[in-house]
Amino acid sequence: MTNFSALLEKCSVCPRNCNVNRLKNEIGFCKIGKNPKVSAYNLHFGEEPPISGTHGSGTIFFTGCNLRCVFCQNYPISQLHNGNEITVEKLAEIMMTLQNQNADNINLVTPTHIVPQIIEAVLLAKKKGFNIPIVYNSGGYEKVETIKLLDGIIDMYMPDAKYSDDKSAKKYSDARDYWKVNKAALKEMHRQVGDLQIKNGIAVKGLLIRHLVLPENIAGSKKVFEFISKEISPKTYISIMSQYHPANRTDEFPELQRKITDKEYLRVINWAGEFGLTRGWRQEI
Ligand code: SF4
Repeated sequence: MTNFSALLEKCSVCPRNCNVNRLKNEIGFCKIGKNPKVSAYNLHFGEEPPISGTHGSGTIFFTGCNLRCVFCQNYPISQLHNGNEITVEKLAEIMMTLQNQNADNINLVTPTHIVPQIIEAVLLAKKKGFNIPIVYNSGGYEKVETIKLLDGIIDMYMPDAKYSDDKSAKKYSDARDYWKVNKAALKEMHRQVGDLQIKNGIAVKGLLIRHLVLPENIAGSKKVFEFISKEISPKTYISIMSQYHPANRTDEFPELQRKITDKEYLRVINWAGEFGLTRGWRQEI
């Protein structure tokens, strides 16, 4: 069996290419060493309906992140690193526990910096009868080479498309090449799994893209939709989220110190429509 953990020796698992030896617990941008850290795992009913399913999505929240969004709503987990270190064997056990609780899928939240450990855990769990779909629920700042390792392992990709503007990506998430990197990752994800397939109300395979609407069109939403429609598929399911609220370090950014308005949200919904993107979910404002 390939030793996927060896990828941690000079870590270039994500576009940060930190080159630290995580096997020796040297720490890079994501601040996670050899073992994954998990802040919680449970059946979650608050995802998009076909992801929550009927029995809940077996959600595993990983600590750490390869982005530093100033408005992160999970920053105690992503940036303060609250959570418990676990082994790959324990991660496999957690997957089995959630399957035994009848979860409709396993939902890996913020998995990008843990891909090698996740692959090893899934292979271990499969030997013990693990067989439910796996959702890769990420910020979308991914390396294509790493996503390729997940071909045949991940059933559903649920990445963010956060920005089409690199100045915003640098300023608010410390990722100056986010747009280029995100576009390549989304294409590879779609190549692997295609458009989202829903059977009896439950998602079983495919790509679902999330887009958080930000005040003042900081996200560059129109260009995001144009890309998805023209270069991925106009049949793409998109969750257009209105839930933005000031959090974490937004007090340093006056433009981020308010929720979005109804008008801003409706304008973004209309842009999606202009590009023929009508599948997916919209939220109350
Ligand atoms: S996974 Fe972490 S250590 Fe590895 S390149 Fe990305 S941020 Fe750096």
